Amino acid sequence: MTRRGPCRQAKNRGISGRHQPGSVPRELVELSRKLAKVKAQARVLGIFTNDRELLGCPNCGLLEDVTARGLLVTYPKDSADLKDCGLRFCPVDEIHFACPKCGTRIKAMIL
Ligand SMILES: [Zn+2]
Repeated sequence: MTRRGPCRQAKNRGISGRHQPGSVPRELVELSRKLAKVKAQARVLGIFTNDRELLGCPNCGLLEDVTARGLLVTYPKDSADLKDCGLRFCPVDEIHFACPKCGTRIKAMIL
């Protein structure tokens, strides 16, 4: 005697909702990605990318400036020759920077 239990499986067919592509064109997304990459490369080269204001430390007077060649430099505010002292303000988060000389936190205006 063989027993055959009812073996029914209810098949639930879920409606596969198609994900609509966003309204931003693909080319634009790729372009902005490329721009971000170029900006990152520029920063590595020491080029100021103009996406924030130039910083100045209210405590020790270290100032940021951009040369005619677009390079970011720093010098003390009483500097006579405005020669780059090689220090760079260090990003703490998206809008705050730390003075490399005295460590004071400065809020930058993001442009
Ligand atoms: Zn400082």
